[in-house]
Amino acid sequence: MYYGFDMGGTKIEMGAFDAELNRVWQKRVPTPRDDYAALIDTLTELTLEADAALGLKGKVGIGLPGMPDRDNGRLFTANVPAAMGRPLQLDLEQRIERAVKIDNDANCFALSEAWDGEFRSYPSVLGMILGTGVGGGLIIDGKVFSGRNYITGEFGHLRLPVDALEVLGRDIPRVRCGCGHDGCIENYISGRGFEWVYQHFYQESLSAPVIIERYRAGEAKAASHVDRFMDVLAICLGNLLTILDPHLVVLGGGLSNFTELYGELPKRLPPHLLSVAKVPRIEPARYGDSGGVRGAAFLNLQD
Ligand SMILES: [Zn+2]
Repeated sequence: MYYGFDMGGTKIEMGAFDAELNRVWQKRVPTPRDDYAALIDTLTELTLEADAALGLKGKVGIGLPGMPDRDNGRLFTANVPAAMGRPLQLDLEQRIERAVKIDNDANCFALSEAWDGEFRSYPSVLGMILGTGVGGGLIIDGKVFSGRNYITGEFGHLRLPVDALEVLGRDIPRVRCGCGHDGCIENYISGRGFEWVYQHFYQESLSAPVIIERYRAGEAKAASHVDRFMDVLAICLGNLLTILDPHLVVLGGGLSNFTELYGELPKRLPPHLLSVAKVPRIEPARYGDSGGVRGAAFLNLQD
């Protein structure tokens, strides 16, 4: 039995999955945001409650917004202050007397999709979240490739490629990113970036769904904006495909519901790839909000 904890800034969602990867148990509780002892207690209680209900000792995986320090296990997780700088894995392992796996929530998203009944036939899967920010993960043979520092998949913090400047204009402001750099692509191709770029060109603040509604109604400014956005996204994704050459790309986050992406990207990608490269299949995520819990549980499928 595989237990997954999706630990966010406001809630912890837990799910237990059987050998066929079906969810057989779930529970959701508020995150003790500022009290580390209470956080460990909560994770322990949830684990023991599931053990008792299911009559076994499940394997535990945790996905969280952030990452452990590879050298000492201490967490970097700004959204869960209680766990910041804490060796959560070690402390929880002692309490629940079993191994605990921890990974970044974007990696868990990608892992969840990669273990979909159909998608698992692909040897490598690139998961990309186009939400408030941009992130994702790379899954190779059903395992997260998390790199030296769990940074693999932090695509959002690549800086704008030169080709994107040709589309957006060389004088496009280099937006200051939350990471401290200027001009990271997540400020242009995330849901938030989609709205920012519209406002930059048309001096009007609209939500992404409204812009998309206007685009579908054939409104000229929205049409130009989406045309520009699709090109910039194809340029940024094209660079990732040239580095990683994945067999399958799965898009998540709010903008992944923009269904026109799946027709436009395959058309717009080829000029940004090597001529021998074929565009991989690009699909919307299949597990929505449950991806975090699934992926966290599936960290234990990797052994
Ligand atoms: Zn950044």
